[in-house]
Amino acid sequence: MTHDSNCIFCKIINGDIPSAKVYEDEDVYAFLDISQVTKGHTLVIPKTHTKDIYSTNEQVAENLFARIPKVANAIKSAFQPIGLNLLNNNEEPAGQSVFHLHIHLIPRYGENDGFE
Ligand code: 5GP
Ligand code: ZN
Repeated sequence: MTHDSNCIFCKIINGDIPSAKVYEDEDVYAFLDISQVTKGHTLVIPKTHTKDIYSTNEQVAENLFARIPKVANAIKSAFQPIGLNLLNNNEEPAGQSVFHLHIHLIPRYGENDGFE
């Protein structure tokens, strides 16, 4: 596991920054986004520090994506959305603001739910 002491998400994994945990296992951590685009907006991250989709390796990507159905089902049960979007931003022009690979799970509740 790579750890970057300057990375907010590495600090969240370590528990140095508190977070609302949705799911955790040996490879991934999922927690509520601090700025909820819609209710239940969750981030899923690999525990090993990985900057973005370009710099990840197949094993890290495989572990990350393999856990998404489990997290998606947890969100579906907890929040009962009528849909769910997955989003991954890479590099600043594409909207990446935290440089530790993450997948957004954005529950949808119908028109005007806040997410375009
Ligand atoms: P990005 O813009 O890089 O795709 O997404 C980064 C996300 O991380 C943003 O939606 C932002 O609200 C969230 N975020 C940033 N800092 C924190 C934090 O300290 N705690 C939590 N839970 N989310 C954070
Ligand atoms: Zn990190």
